[in-house]
Amino acid sequence: MIESGVSHIEKIRHVLVAGGTHGNEYTGAFLARHWLSDDSSLKRDSFSTHVLFSNQEAFKICKRYVDRDLNRSFNPSETVSNNRALELSRARDIEQWLLSACGGGMPGAIFDLHSTTANMGKSLVLTNREPFNLLLLAYLRQRFADVNAYLWEEPNSQPGFLNSLSSKGFAIEIGPVANGVLHAECVVNTAALVHACLDFIEEWNSGINSPLPSRVPLYCFRRHVDYPRGSDNLPSAMVHPELQNRDFQALQPGEPVFLGFDGSVTLWEGDTVWPVFINEAAYYEKGIAFTVTDKLDVEISGLKSKLS
Ligand SMILES: [Zn+2]
Repeated sequence: MIESGVSHIEKIRHVLVAGGTHGNEYTGAFLARHWLSDDSSLKRDSFSTHVLFSNQEAFKICKRYVDRDLNRSFNPSETVSNNRALELSRARDIEQWLLSACGGGMPGAIFDLHSTTANMGKSLVLTNREPFNLLLLAYLRQRFADVNAYLWEEPNSQPGFLNSLSSKGFAIEIGPVANGVLHAECVVNTAALVHACLDFIEEWNSGINSPLPSRVPLYCFRRHVDYPRGSDNLPSAMVHPELQNRDFQALQPGEPVFLGFDGSVTLWEGDTVWPVFINEAAYYEKGIAFTVTDKLDVEISGLKSKLS
């Protein structure tokens, strides 16, 4: 249990809730649209919540993006060939808007709402191991036992996520749901997670009193696995039916991972891993059939001492 009176932590004054960063992920897009007209459920006493509908141009055409992935465009050091891309100027506009909305700095925490075609359930995508994020993960698991967190921490890589504008916060990614579809249960659960995140920040600002689990699982990036591909670069095999929908479940050596159109089966070679984003529609173009992770057991009880 985390003790109260954590007065030395930095209070959070501005929080960003973003949706529609991918225009065909309706859960976040419609929640952002709703909250832009009525943000009463997002108001808390100790901080301001700002709502962003990130990529309305992509939403209008029900595509993930217009020119390039907005959620890979918040990386100032990136060398960009197509620098007239709509999403790059959109990323710059969003940063400017945030600076003025948040008193000259970036938000203290960002929650970016996505959806996934993979069977990820109620998932969080973290990009770091900040005590804030791990404590919030514990807080959410106390309330939603089926929340899982994937730590997308690729060595030597800065993906340029919207979330990278703040070290606190993460993407909330609930599925499976098809792109361009409103799935009420996914929308309701996403909103519930957002509300709980805001409740946590209210506690963070005044001292965390809620009981927390002593340990939480964290699924840490090991590597992406691409489809077998032919000379035309298209997949020459599919995710095997026995792997489909088994996100966050152990994959043992010798278990099937791909099924060829000729019936051939590819087996998993290597040690036990925990796959995530299995057969995510948006990742065919990114060369990812699924991502394998290591399951880490994170101790929450001692985290308070690491707060700064
Ligand atoms: Zn997305």
